[in-house]
Amino acid sequence: MARHNRIVLLGPPGSGKGTQGAILAQNMGVHEISAGDLLRTEVKTGSNLGKEIAECINAGHLVSTDLIVRLMTQAFLAPENENGFISDGFPRSIEQAEIFEKVQQQTEFTGKKVDLVLLIDVPDSYILERILGRFQCPSCGTFYHDKFKPTKVAGVCDICGGKEFAKRADDTEETVVSRLRVYREATAPLIPYYEKQGLLVRVDGTGSIDAVSEKIKEIVGY
Ligand SMILES: [Zn+2]
Repeated sequence: MARHNRIVLLGPPGSGKGTQGAILAQNMGVHEISAGDLLRTEVKTGSNLGKEIAECINAGHLVSTDLIVRLMTQAFLAPENENGFISDGFPRSIEQAEIFEKVQQQTEFTGKKVDLVLLIDVPDSYILERILGRFQCPSCGTFYHDKFKPTKVAGVCDICGGKEFAKRADDTEETVVSRLRVYREATAPLIPYYEKQGLLVRVDGTGSIDAVSEKIKEIVGY
């Protein structure tokens, strides 16, 4: 079975992409590279690029596409990612993908091009149910879900016996619907884009974490 080593992870917010990315990175023995983390890290280093990013963010602007592509490709080619990587959150638009495509034509990317775009496919209704049902015990941090992981005794935390629970402030229907809309408009066009290039494979993201990660294992070869 052919193995894939340079993977772009795609999927709507709430698809379990973060969890699956972490499991896959561990199985493959590679790093997960997240655009958001890279931006924050680069700012902390105080490099020229970091200063450029900080200025941009402080001015309330979106970080430019060129800059994000530069930062991500630099990471893809870094010695610690020589054996592969998982890219989470990049590219997130056709604009980014097209610039990235040109960069990958350069000789330094010979043998190091992205070889799989893995789409974790989950219907919007499922995402809404998954996100809107989750709640947490603030005293011990345990997460629960109304339907998928209820407390053993109603209203009592399994771990610490706490009786008060909280929901994340951004786990509202309005926020989730708006994040899904952004995904459908900006990121989902990448699906036909990568399908045309023969790079895209879909995995059904409904079901348990273990079931989904088994399916991913088969596709990726790890
Ligand atoms: Zn608790």
